[in-house]
Amino acid sequence: MSDPSTELPLITDKERVRRLLALPGVRPDRLDRLRSARVAIVGIGGLGNASAQYLAAQGVGHLTLIDGDRVDASNLGRQVLFGPADIGSFKVTAASKALLRLAPNCEVNALPVYLAEHNGASLIGSHDLILDGLDSALPRQWINQWALTNGVPVIFAGAVGYEAQVLGVYGKPPCLSCLWPSLDGADVDCVTNGILGPLVGMIGSLQAAQAINHLIGLADRPGTLWTFDLFQGRSRVVSVPPNPSCPVCGPTGKEISL
Ligand SMILES: [Zn+2]
Repeated sequence: MSDPSTELPLITDKERVRRLLALPGVRPDRLDRLRSARVAIVGIGGLGNASAQYLAAQGVGHLTLIDGDRVDASNLGRQVLFGPADIGSFKVTAASKALLRLAPNCEVNALPVYLAEHNGASLIGSHDLILDGLDSALPRQWINQWALTNGVPVIFAGAVGYEAQVLGVYGKPPCLSCLWPSLDGADVDCVTNGILGPLVGMIGSLQAAQAINHLIGLADRPGTLWTFDLFQGRSRVVSVPPNPSCPVCGPTGKEISL
């Protein structure tokens, strides 16, 4: 017989979404989509930590976490699902434990691998939505191309220093490459340039908000780029039109290899 003091209260999905239901425009029948949704998060760093916790807490039924990296002490200032005891563990494993503490009903599939040519399609296939938590341009562009081909929405994001961007691509142009056609100079890393810890929390949360809006059928915002500069104290919302010479969704689109 179990010890009643260790038993968790049963939190139903209805209670978990109660405050969502109070929002204008949210229809009760659409909330079932959160429970049935399969969401893949590629990269469980600062962005992935933030987005995953809100998706799990808000009642998303399935999360696939994809990252071959392990927790390092330098991650702890911004990757808030991890603590000192997790150092050396795979990020997906440590994140999975933390997410199940937040939301025991969430099915979490922790995959301690990197996205590569041979496994990319099988890792991110069979999902309703993908969140980009990567810190390098090539796999991000590969996901963009794969997702356009397969009609799967992706919420892209990037953050370095004090600056960050978020762009949702919903299975059709405009796409990520309409905005950034070239990979030249695209990789700017946090090791060299630093990163403000709360910035990735804020941006990952914005990704989660866009994901939830999409899943429950609120208006998507295709071609809307959100930019933030927390040093200058500026944010902008920019409209990104389809780019006729886009190397991915344009007429002369070429195959991207990982
Ligand atoms: Zn494009």
